[in-house]
Amino acid sequence: MANYDSNNIFAKILRDEIPSKRVLESNFALAFYDINPQAPVHVLVIPKGPYVSMADFSENASSEEIVDLWRAVGETAKKLGLVEGGYRILSNHSTHAHQEVFHLHIHILGGHPLGPMLEGGDVPPDGSWQRSA
Ligand code: AMP
Repeated sequence: MANYDSNNIFAKILRDEIPSKRVLESNFALAFYDINPQAPVHVLVIPKGPYVSMADFSENASSEEIVDLWRAVGETAKKLGLVEGGYRILSNHSTHAHQEVFHLHIHILGGHPLGPMLEGGDVPPDGSWQRSA
């Protein structure tokens, strides 16, 4: 797993070295608007601790941090008024998921119908990636 780079863009947001439009802050998490929204509402929720991705976080974060992050995700969606209409959460880990920023972040997307869960991507047309049960 990649080492954590304390100069990544979200680490700078946490240190207030670059601006962000904040939605919610908890003891161990911060939510702010994505700079390049993919839906009418697109917010990122990040742990304050230095975790590269979900693989790192789920293995190394304390129970307190894990609970706090997921509560922050739910509270952020509620604060944004997304509960009734619905929303999608996703988190990209590493190459196949096209992770761009190597500080764990949970995307919250909503505000209109979001369509199928995944579109296109790098899936081979013959579906040969599918595993048999
Ligand atoms: P991912 O591909 O899951 O790593 O997504 C990274 C996300 O971070 C993208 O949706 C970007 O638009 C978003 N992003 C990059 N820089 C910033 C920034 N300075 N403030 C807010 N969001 C950002």
